[in-house]
Amino acid sequence: MENVKEIILLKEGEIALKGLNRRTFEDAFIKNLRYRLKPLGKFNYTSSQSMIYAEPAEDGIDFDEAFSRASKVFGANAVCRAMIAEKGDFDKLCADALEYCGPELETARTFKVSAKRSDKRYPMKSPEICAELGGYIMERCPWLSVDIHEPQVTVNIEIRDKNAYIHTGNKPAAGGIPVGTSGKALLMLSGGIDSPVAGYMMAKRGVKVSAIHYVSPPYTSDRARIKVERLCEKITPYCGDMEFYCVPFTRIQEAIRDNCPEELFTVIMRCLMIEIAQRIAEREGMQALITGESVGQVASQTMDALVCTDSFSRMPIFRPVIGMDKSEITITARKIDTFDISIEPYEDCCTVFTPKHPKTRPTAELIRQAIAAFDFEPLLAEATENTERKHIKILN
Ligand code: ATP
Ligand code: MG
Repeated sequence: MENVKEIILLKEGEIALKGLNRRTFEDAFIKNLRYRLKPLGKFNYTSSQSMIYAEPAEDGIDFDEAFSRASKVFGANAVCRAMIAEKGDFDKLCADALEYCGPELETARTFKVSAKRSDKRYPMKSPEICAELGGYIMERCPWLSVDIHEPQVTVNIEIRDKNAYIHTGNKPAAGGIPVGTSGKALLMLSGGIDSPVAGYMMAKRGVKVSAIHYVSPPYTSDRARIKVERLCEKITPYCGDMEFYCVPFTRIQEAIRDNCPEELFTVIMRCLMIEIAQRIAEREGMQALITGESVGQVASQTMDALVCTDSFSRMPIFRPVIGMDKSEITITARKIDTFDISIEPYEDCCTVFTPKHPKTRPTAELIRQAIAAFDFEPLLAEATENTERKHIKILN
């Protein structure tokens, strides 16, 4: 199928329900899509009737890649790649449809034709188009029969004002709403399975996500940090370019070890992590934190522990996987392709100095006292000051 001209059609999801704000959401979606597709070549964008059209404006664009990228941009519910055909000569149109849909028809037993006609001046009506094109295909593909209720392949033909589009239907797209339409938040990104999924989920709701990661060299290795950077990069096709903040956390952890009750280590550490994250978020104009916590998953994620860390935070903490089982989180991790990196066996600073018997029912008061008993402020200021910032470009 050399020289076939194709187009990507994206069906708006929630954007279409946005009333007066709709244009803002549509513009944000097209902006994000444009940024994703630009490295592949020039496209023109138009929108009409809840559909966004991305049409190549030059030859030689890697269309498989363009389609795959477009499927990851939040804001569309369905995506479809279609052939742009001339509509003037109906026989030619039939031949085009057969050629374009041929690979799928070859392995099918049943099919149907579905026709839409937004150009009402077109001389044939939809039922006639279906009958004619259906007959044309049957004649040339004798192994096929028509099944109008549950066809294995649907050959869609849409007669538009300028051209006709031929395609075999929609694929699911990324869903959600466009990144950048819901404010900014800072994701506490570990090397585990849960937090990349949490970041993905908030980006899906339109949040512009940055990531913060805590390292404790020499207890944690450089390779552990690099693993987290790779995870961050892995979610950029969904989140867009990301800022990645890396916090040197060793001295704080050693201070906790040397000065706090052992059974409270983990919760105290979590509270101090949050304190630093908030300082950076505030400085950068972000409004909330995101974690990959799920209630009851481990000792630091009991209801009581979560209440403690929450009470320590001036900012809302979003925990999008809070009610999900590990197995459910894993399904998403596989879908966004972070799972294989997440299970690489590098140590996280959370596993350094872990207490043998962590307190599963800490109280905010107990934590507050433990933290107040030592002057963490200079260490917090130093860690915030020495946090490294790196711009992670979208993974192409
Ligand atoms: P994950 O799979 O996301 O690592 P987890 O099940 O391992 O989660 P914890 O290690 O208890 O759970 O961490 C809970 C949350 O705390 C993580 O989801 C993440 O948001 C944050 N967190 C943990 N360690 C770090 C770290 N080193 N840097 C940044 N955030 C972290
Ligand atoms: Mg972890």
